[in-house]
Amino acid sequence: MTAPPSPLPPGSTIGIVGGGQLGRMLSLAAAQLGYRCHIFAPEADAVASGVAHAHTHAAYDDAMALGGFANAVDVITFEFENVPLETIRHLAEHRPLFPGARALAVAQDRVAEKQFAHGCAVPIARYAEVRSSADLAAAVEAIGLPAILKTSREGYDGKGQALITTPEVAGAAWESIGLGRAVLEQRVDFAAEFSVLLVRAQDGTTALWDCPENVHGEGMLLRSAVPVQPAIAAQLTQAIAYASALADALDYVGVLACEFFATDDGVLLNEFAPRVHNSGHWTIEGAVTSQFENHIRAICGLPLGSTALTGTGAVMHNIIGDEAANWAAYLSDPDCHLHLYGKGHGRAARKMGHATWVSSGVSRA
Ligand code: AMP
Repeated sequence: MTAPPSPLPPGSTIGIVGGGQLGRMLSLAAAQLGYRCHIFAPEADAVASGVAHAHTHAAYDDAMALGGFANAVDVITFEFENVPLETIRHLAEHRPLFPGARALAVAQDRVAEKQFAHGCAVPIARYAEVRSSADLAAAVEAIGLPAILKTSREGYDGKGQALITTPEVAGAAWESIGLGRAVLEQRVDFAAEFSVLLVRAQDGTTALWDCPENVHGEGMLLRSAVPVQPAIAAQLTQAIAYASALADALDYVGVLACEFFATDDGVLLNEFAPRVHNSGHWTIEGAVTSQFENHIRAICGLPLGSTALTGTGAVMHNIIGDEAANWAAYLSDPDCHLHLYGKGHGRAARKMGHATWVSSGVSRA
């Protein structure tokens, strides 16, 4: 184990690449510890910038802007995995960057991610790579139907995916996701979905939160709850071992979220995110130290905070699209912790905020 690095002192500046709600909640956690955050994001109205110290509003390939950003910060992280790899590699040449370009390279390409999982002996659903219509026909034959066709890159929240139930609709499915490099995955008949959320410090110390059970609708996370239902609790130990193996193999620093399917035959890794994750938002009130604070602690070389529950459990509900107009109703429940991300318009399928309830036993002293 390497010697603990000297911590980055409060007052230092953390650079965050990406300007969405994850960057916003990271900035809030960093501010509590006395750090400043500088956001690099191409959107003028990046919601993270409203709570950060500075915002470089520039394209991800703007070398001059990236240079200025790197010079202005002491450590760099990212909150979005579709940042071009070249941008992250360039920044990593100038400043310490966590969790590192390799974690991003693996996570932003489904084929690379599956190969990496396989190399770490982590089980995944049957899949085949698709680059042509001939590949697709062969993949349908090999994997069987129903199956899900997914773009290899740039997919999130279920976007870039199409369900194939009969061979006749395969061509249309491939067209619908843009005819690019893709993977065909067996549709898993899962009993439940859950994630393993871990944080790994620079010296390799790892801490885990309770695993949340996740419910998705049309590929988008709707709800996360701890603890998981008793029927799948026995599968968590194995999933935690798999997630820890992935983190160790990447020499990972920061929060890593691994999404699993619980099946009758054991766990299968769906995918992992090299960043704080929506299924960990409940940790803001539901755990002693949130995923956001522990990510900041890890990248700054500080000791990790406790990941223990503050109560007996927690439920997080995503507020999507027009549902944000109901903010007053959430606030009328005194036990509801409402988080709104400051996004202007309630576009359908846009995450506008979330609400968390911590179950009894919580101390609010
Ligand atoms: P993804 O963006 O790949 O995480 O997919 C989003 C959601 O779609 C997952 O959380 C599942 O609910 C569903 N899904 C994705 N892949 C599969 C699969 N191979 N089998 C069954 N459901 C899936």
